[in-house]
Amino acid sequence: MDQQTCSRCGKENMKLGGNEVFTCIDHTCNFICDCDVNGGKNIALKNACEIDSAAAERARKAAATAQPGGGASTPLAALHPSP
Ligand SMILES: [Zn+2]
Repeated sequence: MDQQTCSRCGKENMKLGGNEVFTCIDHTCNFICDCDVNGGKNIALKNACEIDSAAAERARKAAATAQPGGGASTPLAALHPSP
């Protein structure tokens, strides 16, 4: 559950119940946050990871198809495509 997972360290707090405030169980983290905000952060992090892996996949394909000395497509260009 997104709202039970610490958006800072990733640990799950299964004892949240109906609490509106998320409190991390990790005492070195001690992250405290509104549950909705914490859940939103986790969803945003998840989406960011999916975007990152898609960009990484494009970079891998670009690197695989790039011709030595061609210079047309580089992994950097695939990660930051111009509009
Ligand atoms: Zn935490």
